Amino acid sequence: MLRIAVQSKGRLYEETMELIAQAGIKFPAVKRTLLVASRNFPVEILYLRDDDIPDSVATGTADVGIVGLNEVLEKRQRVETIHPLGFSRCRLSLAIPREIDYPGRQWFNGKKIATSYPNILKEYLDQNGITADIHVISGSVEIAPGIGLADGIFDIVSSGSTLVSNNLAEVEKVIDSQAVLIGGLKPLPAEKQAILDDLIFRFKAVKAADGNKYLLMNVPRTRLSEVIAILPGIKSPTILPLADENWCSVHSVIQESQFWDIVTRLKNAGAEGILVLDIMKMVP
Ligand code: ATP
Ligand code: MG
Repeated sequence: MLRIAVQSKGRLYEETMELIAQAGIKFPAVKRTLLVASRNFPVEILYLRDDDIPDSVATGTADVGIVGLNEVLEKRQRVETIHPLGFSRCRLSLAIPREIDYPGRQWFNGKKIATSYPNILKEYLDQNGITADIHVISGSVEIAPGIGLADGIFDIVSSGSTLVSNNLAEVEKVIDSQAVLIGGLKPLPAEKQAILDDLIFRFKAVKAADGNKYLLMNVPRTRLSEVIAILPGIKSPTILPLADENWCSVHSVIQESQFWDIVTRLKNAGAEGILVLDIMKMVP
């Protein structure tokens, strides 16, 4: 049994559980306890606050964990990133009141910066030869300049809308973050390592399918080469005969983002009955 630490609620929870579900790992419908075993795969989930996940993995309470890289870097625990998961992407940035004419990072010399990430901030300031007063607060960091608690902030940014609504401007990006699978530094027993390898294999198959769509259409045989030329990056699409021998069915995999670029050209090349289907998993 492999024990995975997962955020119990918050921004990571839903996408983490969706990834686990897409990997075919099922849990009893109701989450009554902090530790829940899967019904069909040898893993159990330990639900924690995200702050506690790096420590739980470092101490071996959990074998692996899923948490934001920002927490991993801040908590300085003895853990390693095993696999990036690609969701909950955000960055840690310095931001200051919008009306200030920002001359460069030396502006922060002698200033007071509010943050929940003092370790990452201190390292950045030291590396850049900046001496500033770090004021640690655990939440609502973005309101600190407005109420006179700090001159600037160092916090998570994703769309930037929180900054805008608090009259702040992002001036320095310090790190990029995303959800990562972390493990301890000690090797796992062979049995657990085998479960982990299977888990990572499944996560990769889910991720590979992400953004890819299965495209099907009917094409007159006389125009087949025109249609094939439009399909992006496909070495050889699948061609199936139809009952009407003047037509065939063409199947291929495309990136969803490419669909609107090529659909009109496919229609102009005689394609009909174009279907786009979700791909659940892709194993190369
Ligand atoms: P907990 O109660 O578990 O301590 P929290 O309030 O510290 O939760 P959340 O706000 O749920 O944390 O965020 C968890 C993680 O999600 C963050 O550490 C970060 O990695 C990521 N994250 C936070 N905000 C965003 C965002 N706006 N967009 C994308 N990812 C984000
Ligand atoms: Mg937290």
